[in-house]
Amino acid sequence: MTGDVDFPELREAVRRLTDDVLIPAEQQMVADGQVSEQSLAALRDLGLFGMTLPHEHGGLGLGMEEQVRLTFEFTRASAVYRSHLSTTFGLVSRVLVDFGTPEQQQTWLPRFATGEATAAFALTEEAAGSDATALTTVARRTADGYRISGSKRYITNGHTASVLMVFAVVPEHGITAFLVPRPAAGLSARLPSRMNGHAENPVAYVELDDVWAPDAAVVGGPGEGMRLALTGINHARTHVAATAVGQGTRLLQEATRHAATREQFGAPLAELGTVQATLGRSLAELAAARELTLACARAWDRGAPDRHQISAAKLYATEMVGQLADRAVQVLGGAGIVGDSPVPRMWRDVRALRIYEGASEIHERNLARHLVALDRHGLPLWTG
Ligand SMILES: Cc1cc2nc3c(=O)[nH]c(=O)nc-3n(C[C@H](O)[C@H](O)[C@H](O)COP(=O)(O)OP(=O)(O)OC[C@H]3O[C@@H](n4cnc5c(N)ncnc54)[C@H](O)[C@@H]3O)c2cc1C
Repeated sequence: MTGDVDFPELREAVRRLTDDVLIPAEQQMVADGQVSEQSLAALRDLGLFGMTLPHEHGGLGLGMEEQVRLTFEFTRASAVYRSHLSTTFGLVSRVLVDFGTPEQQQTWLPRFATGEATAAFALTEEAAGSDATALTTVARRTADGYRISGSKRYITNGHTASVLMVFAVVPEHGITAFLVPRPAAGLSARLPSRMNGHAENPVAYVELDDVWAPDAAVVGGPGEGMRLALTGINHARTHVAATAVGQGTRLLQEATRHAATREQFGAPLAELGTVQATLGRSLAELAAARELTLACARAWDRGAPDRHQISAAKLYATEMVGQLADRAVQVLGGAGIVGDSPVPRMWRDVRALRIYEGASEIHERNLARHLVALDRHGLPLWTG
C-alpha cells in the first residue's frame, strides 16, 4: 500500500508510542495543563506530523486507510495529542498539497512534515459557525496585495502555529484563503478563560487588524476559499471518525477492566446482565464505526471519496463514542466522576467531536438531502 515505509512496522511503533509514552504521560499532561515537549518530540520523531503528506513533500506517503489505521492507534491516548497534529497534517497540509503553488508547497510542506513548523486553520467566526459562508473577515485589495481585518474564534493551535490559513471575503471575488505566517503586524491571539474538554490544547480567539498579505499568500485563487476549505474539512472528517474509534477503543477497555475487577453483591460487575448488555452493545457499535470508517478510507484510496459516505462515518462514529463514553462513566460509578480515571476526561474530550468538522445536525441534514435527491432522480440507495 505504501512506498518505502514498512507499514506493519510503523503501526507497531505507533502502538508502542501510544502505550509506552503517550498514555503514561497523560496524568502529567493534565497536571501541567499542556502536552509536554517530550511527547510532541516523540510524535515528531515517528514522522506523524507528516502522516498525510506524500514522499515528495517529506511526508510518510501513506494512503488514507493507513492514516486511519494509525489514527485508531494513537487516539487511544488523549484526543489532545491529535489536536496538536490535526491542523498541520490534515486541514492545512491537504489544502496546500491540492491547491498550493509550488512556492507555497516548498516553503511549508517539508517543514510541516518534520513538525518544525505548524499550521492553524482559521475559518470559524462568531457569526459564521455551521454556516461558514457567513464570514465577515474582509481582505481588501491594495496596490501591493491585501489588507485583512476580522476576528476568528475557536481556532485550534491558533496561538502557537507558525502559519495560519485565514479565510476572508475579498469583496470583488468572495471567500479566499490566505497564508499568514507568524509573526505578522496586526495578528494576535488569546486563549479562552476555560475549556470544557480538550483542556490541554485550548482553542484560540484570533484577531486580524489590517494584516498585510501579498498576492503570493493567496491559496488557489481569489474566490476559491470555500472549495478549498471543504477539501481540508472532508479529509479532517475522516480522521475525526477514526479518532472516535480510537477513543472508543480505550474507553471500552477502561470500562471492561473496571467491570471485571470491581465486585458488588459478591461478584464482578461484569457478571451482571445489565453491565454485559452495556459492554456487548458498545463493542458491536464500536466495530460498526470502525468498519464504516475503514470503508470510507478505502473510498479515498480508490480516488472516489463520496462526501455522503464521509458524513455518515463522521456522524456515526462521533455519536457512537459519545454514547460509549457516557456508558463507560456509568460502569465506573463514582470513579467515573471522582478521581484520576481517564474516563471522565475522555468523556469531556469526545463531546467536542460531535461539534467540530460539521456538527452532527449538519451531517444529518446533508444525508437527508442526499436521500431526497436520490429519490427524486429514481436512483438506488446502494450500488454494487
Ligand atoms: C475544540 C474545538 C476546536 C475547533 N477548532 C477549529 C479550528 O481549528 N478552526 C476553525 O475554523 N473552527 C474550529 N472550531 C469551530 C467549529 O468548527 C464550530 O464550533 C462548529 O462549526 C459549530 O459552529 P458553532 O460553534 O458556531 O455552532 P452553531 O453553528 O451556532 O451551532 C449550534 C447548534 O445549532 C445546530 N445547527 C446550526 N445550523 C443548523 C442547521 N442548519 N440545521 C440543524 N442544526 C443546526 C448545530 O448543529 C449545533 O448543534 C473548533 C471548535 C471546537 C469546539
